[in-house]
Amino acid sequence: MSTVFTIGEALIDFIPAVKGVELKSVDSFQKAAGGAPANVACAVSKLGGRSAFIGKLGADAFGDFLVDTMKGIGVDTSFVLRTDEANTALAFVSLKADGNRDFSFYRNPSADMLLSEEEIGDWFSVGDILHFCSVDLIEAPVKYAHFKAIRTAKSAGAIISFDPNVRLPLWRDPEECRRTILEFLPLSHIVKISDEELTFITGIEDEKEAIASLFVGDVQHVVYTRGAEGAAWFTKEFEVSVPGNLVDAEDTTGAGDSFIGALLFQLHLLTDVQQQISRERAEELLTFANAAAAITTTRPGAIPSLPTFSEVVAFQ
Ligand code: ADP
Repeated sequence: MSTVFTIGEALIDFIPAVKGVELKSVDSFQKAAGGAPANVACAVSKLGGRSAFIGKLGADAFGDFLVDTMKGIGVDTSFVLRTDEANTALAFVSLKADGNRDFSFYRNPSADMLLSEEEIGDWFSVGDILHFCSVDLIEAPVKYAHFKAIRTAKSAGAIISFDPNVRLPLWRDPEECRRTILEFLPLSHIVKISDEELTFITGIEDEKEAIASLFVGDVQHVVYTRGAEGAAWFTKEFEVSVPGNLVDAEDTTGAGDSFIGALLFQLHLLTDVQQQISRERAEELLTFANAAAAITTTRPGAIPSLPTFSEVVAFQ
């Protein structure tokens, strides 16, 4: 079996226990392990797949908590580096009454941004998948670490999966965010994008036209998520979509990560991803990922809310 590697941040989410009110009046906080790449690695492992997380954490208690959480779920943490030079990243997340995020912000500078190009090794093999995301945290030197990981993984025959995961409030210059995404896009084989990101990234209002414009460079698959409305899969040959599952959403944090994690879990079981994705197979994979993500929205937190394989099968 190949491995799904994820690269980037892992962080602690602090979630106010009282929802729908301003942060200043909350009584207490929940603490939950999170960060998009860490969520995806955990999603793959929780479903029973093999995953490894690549990133840098502070040499602090929060970093210990994240490593222990990932290890506890079965993620290979042997590529995690620790540093005294910065803290582990923290996010404060408040939720609206419908379970959607209100806002979040990151403590800065955090250790995840200090991962350097020199620290990326020759870890990848044919059939592995390298998933990266959280482009809004990508500043030098970590941007070059990502490029090196992508180059190394591609030359070993791995598949590159990319989720731009735009959180615009974190950018001083939204145009720079867009430019960074467009630098990474052509290097990727699979792109996961949400409806909210599509117009921002492409600058095109028409949905079909905007999706078509994403097929640049090596991009072969565009997986498009529409929140409660479900998801779609586009290739140059076909498009297929599934409607959203009707659930009582409590907290949508991590839904997109659960979605792409479930998809990558299925893909890493295949021996030749490029050859084997027919329209029918894409529909099956979408249905599985759509169910996994729907379950995630019914529970609080990101990593704690990820489903097991049998939970997804029972839900479908
Ligand atoms: P992201 O979390 O990356 O912004 P979306 O909000 O599009 O992405 O959500 C990703 C997936 O999670 C959706 O395609 C869907 O499968 C599931 N999902 C999200 N919100 C809901 C919801 N309210 N009800 C059911 N499924 C949901």
